[in-house]
Amino acid sequence: MASFSLHGIPVSRGIAVGRAHLLTPAALDVKHYLVGQTQVEAEVRRLQNAFAVVHQELRTIWEDLPADAPPELGAFIDIHILILSDPLLAEAPLDIIRSRHYNAEWALVTQIDQLSSQFDEIEDPYLRARKADIQQVAERVLKVLTGTAQLLPATSDVDESHASLIVVAHDISPADMLQFRNRAFAGIATDAGGQNSHTTLVARSLDIPAAVGLSNASLLIKQDDWLIIDGDSGVVMVNPSPLILHQYREMQAKAQRERKKLSKLKKTPAVTLDGTAVTLLANIELPEDCAAAMEAGANGIGLFRSEFLFMGHSGYASKLPSEEEQFDAYRRAVLTMKGRPVTIRTLDIGADKRLKGFDQTATNPALGLRAIRYCMAEPQLFLTQLRAILRASAFGPVKLLIPMLSHSFEISQTMAMINQAKAQLLKAGQKFDAEIKIGAMIEVPAAALMLPTFVRHMDFLSIGTNDLIQYTLAIDRSDHEVAHLYDPTHPAVLLLLAMTAAAAAKAGIPVSICGGMAGDAKLTRLLLGMGFRELSMPAAQLLPVKQEVLGCDLERITPLVRKILRSDDPAAIRQMIGQLAEVPAAV
Ligand code: PEP
Ligand code: MG
Repeated sequence: MASFSLHGIPVSRGIAVGRAHLLTPAALDVKHYLVGQTQVEAEVRRLQNAFAVVHQELRTIWEDLPADAPPELGAFIDIHILILSDPLLAEAPLDIIRSRHYNAEWALVTQIDQLSSQFDEIEDPYLRARKADIQQVAERVLKVLTGTAQLLPATSDVDESHASLIVVAHDISPADMLQFRNRAFAGIATDAGGQNSHTTLVARSLDIPAAVGLSNASLLIKQDDWLIIDGDSGVVMVNPSPLILHQYREMQAKAQRERKKLSKLKKTPAVTLDGTAVTLLANIELPEDCAAAMEAGANGIGLFRSEFLFMGHSGYASKLPSEEEQFDAYRRAVLTMKGRPVTIRTLDIGADKRLKGFDQTATNPALGLRAIRYCMAEPQLFLTQLRAILRASAFGPVKLLIPMLSHSFEISQTMAMINQAKAQLLKAGQKFDAEIKIGAMIEVPAAALMLPTFVRHMDFLSIGTNDLIQYTLAIDRSDHEVAHLYDPTHPAVLLLLAMTAAAAAKAGIPVSICGGMAGDAKLTRLLLGMGFRELSMPAAQLLPVKQEVLGCDLERITPLVRKILRSDDPAAIRQMIGQLAEVPAAV
């Protein structure tokens, strides 16, 4: 087995060691989870039943064929019935469920992928064309399976020896990535993707070691190759020597011990050495993520990326969720957070986040009909969401956050829509928090350059550094070819951050950071020194960031932070940020 390494972009920290599991785009469309030992036979029966149902369906179609139907039609159905009974289709996936504990859908697509690649090698074009028949039959079975989908198994019943699989794919959409939340996979490696693409953000929030932008990993890596993903450096080692494997397993164990140590800080208030309190909040994609936020000791939710409720695959809708479905999701988040604030961002669809079933035709989607622009173009959809969020505010503290505002008319139109939603609820006798706080994401340079307008109308600001960097530096955050130019500490970015902190302070309104910079512990001291006191990040980042807060002496770092803000030399800035970590506390 060839041994080599691939260099990509590190996106989610930690080390993963396991066998490669190649996922084709078709395979990504089904659910992937491991079934517990006690559920294996039930899962086998679920697949057998689905085959039986399809068998019956095909027989009925065959029997109901009109007398004058062309004879090829009957022959065609005969072939499908034969394929359905072939052990390669009907039995091999059962073995996969039993040996690897895959759920039925996953076992079936694994076998189909295997058969498809064998068919691709056949020279006879007639036989090669049978691949399409196999896929059609499999699709029928998958359709039946989807109708009998099971609840995800209790993870406690999943044998850990089955858990060391690493997904290798060309690309994974943010919505597809969400289905990995049940931890069937230990790591992720993709050809495409950038440091702060939404796929990456989901990997980070799931806390799975990941490397993206590996160019052609999905072509070079073979099914079942041994892999090490170093999520801190973005390196993927393929079929490493036993010695390297051993070294990485040791590093993995050490990292786990360090995490355990950090977990002791969960209940410790985030206060700097000189007594300044810092609010540490969590970013979530789905209400279920609130449990991890509470577990990590978050002071609340600083960013609920509500669009994930709209993107399918999450157990929610492949159609648009209704007001009731959304209300239920928002209320669950509010109730789980037990009185801590929940900041719900309105739909930020567009760019690399697509609604399922809606074709994206824009040539440059990041600059297209995204976020608030999309909502303004779809007022009924926006009003439905606003009503759902407002109704959830009757159950605990909720804040409304609006993405991608860049024009003052967008601010006034948004406010008018919020007032309209409130009036509709009043008329319907529904309860909501009439004083709900409304905030703007500062993520387009135009917004950061017209802060006086924003602070006049808004109750709070939240800086989306992922987009602010993307739009300031003109770097597509999902494009690995320009990832080396994506620089959070670029002087222009730091200037916009400093301007926002100053404007919010002057106006006396709260400002937080909810983009990736907030969760990067190497930048915590810099952000504190710039005046930020509220940071929102993936739950997994909360404790490493808290550790930085606890060790920080604000008075001592301030002169160095001022020097960083005056510099226009990226290398010097990086070096000074490194020095911030070493500034000792006053004795
Ligand atoms: C951001 O842009 O920094 C942000 C928090 O929003 P998103 O990553 O969802 O675009
Ligand atoms: Mg954004």
